[in-house]
Amino acid sequence: MSQTIIVSNRLPTKVQRTDDSLTFQSSEGGLATGLGSIYQAEGNMWVGWPGLFVQDAAEEQYVTEQLRADSMRPVFLTETEIRDYYEGFSNSTLWPTFHYFSQLATYEQAHWDAYVAVNEKFCRAVLEQAGPDDTIWIHDYQLLLLPAMLREARPNCTIGFFLHIPFPSYELIRVLPWRAELLRGMLGADLIGFHTYGYMRHFLSAVSQLLGLPTQNGQIETPTRTLRVDAFPMGIDYERYARAAASPAAQEYEVTYRKALHDARVILSIDRLDYTKGIAQRLRAFALLLQRYPEWREKVCLIMLVVPSRDQVTEYAALKEEIDELVGRINAQYRTISWNPIHYFYRSLPLEELASLYRLAEVALVTPMRDGMNLVAKEFIACKADNGGVLILSERAGAARELADALIINPTDTSQLVEAMHDALMMPLEEQQQRMAAMQALVRRYNVFAWTRLFMNQLAYTKIKQHTLA
Ligand code: UDP
Repeated sequence: MSQTIIVSNRLPTKVQRTDDSLTFQSSEGGLATGLGSIYQAEGNMWVGWPGLFVQDAAEEQYVTEQLRADSMRPVFLTETEIRDYYEGFSNSTLWPTFHYFSQLATYEQAHWDAYVAVNEKFCRAVLEQAGPDDTIWIHDYQLLLLPAMLREARPNCTIGFFLHIPFPSYELIRVLPWRAELLRGMLGADLIGFHTYGYMRHFLSAVSQLLGLPTQNGQIETPTRTLRVDAFPMGIDYERYARAAASPAAQEYEVTYRKALHDARVILSIDRLDYTKGIAQRLRAFALLLQRYPEWREKVCLIMLVVPSRDQVTEYAALKEEIDELVGRINAQYRTISWNPIHYFYRSLPLEELASLYRLAEVALVTPMRDGMNLVAKEFIACKADNGGVLILSERAGAARELADALIINPTDTSQLVEAMHDALMMPLEEQQQRMAAMQALVRRYNVFAWTRLFMNQLAYTKIKQHTLA
């Protein structure tokens, strides 16, 4: 019987060193949940980095054995590999380029060489597991070369690839010195998935302009195969968030917070620390709201949660400083003895606390400059059991393609953002409920399990069609 192998940079379990022992912590992220039923099924597995630098062969063997029991196959990476392949090429070249921040991208030959070498390492790890007719589903921008490497070694395998970040316009892709190699790497797949049709069109255009291959109706003709490209907007585990928000713990937190805030109305902002998220612009817009509409002073506050991320990369450390300074300045300018305009947290919160913030907020401010999808927007919706609440959403987040009932804004238009916040605070409850109910129906239905099913079905169908045509 053929098996299915999931491959991503990180395994859904994180192995950490504490003093002299190792701890294994499973991830509760959306992807891990959505793919759980696949990799945990008999004979299947997940291949990826466990997040730990092993000290010796004995430790490597121990971790491998522990993870094998949970259907995982670790790929061990060295500190140099993580620096050059992950922090280097993945996060300092591909991430800024694919999010339209080319000016921040670096082009280091050593990073590219490490990226190729680590993709080859992943390839060897998958080949140890994969039979000739297996299905392999590869995830995200750290592994763009892997589909073609696997295809060469296993021509009959069924290979799927999903990109979790935007695919930018051809004009951005053409700036990359290794653009053709990257595209050819992706073309080893039978099915390539993106969050939106926009990303998919950009990809098809890049393939036809840079590689000269014919593309039409979401199909690409290579000399040996026809492969399919399609949009699969990723969802969340809706019930998990709805349940967490309805839990007694979340309700208790909410009561405590409301009291502490003297019942001020809450605008909520939650992101990982990243220059793509538009955090500084959002702070400036909030300050302008207080200036333009003084009636909101002492009545509204912004709760801003920034989750620490990639602090080894210079741009992220600089962004953190900019945010710290802006929050300090705005609070110093507007605060009163009994009211603080911005409540800023730089940390990660457990699910119930997160859910209580989603419950508490009347307005969620999701205004990235670029975002592949943005799951925070969907989580806010899932936590709003009473149907109230307004989502302000950037037109440049993938989620804006689906969530048409949000207030859709251009995140660089500070004035429009201010008006959207004002409108959201003034919106009659009935209109809030109408919009929220429509979005809830959609987010509940197209959850992460539906996403997994749709992709896997389309992958199997694509392969069958290839065989019929051959
Ligand atoms: N999140 C988290 N800890 C927190 C706050 C948020 O793990 O303290 C989660 C949040 O629930 C969401 C994810 O981080 O699932 C962010 O995903 P999103 O797609 O919005 O952005 P990304 O970080 O992938 O760019």
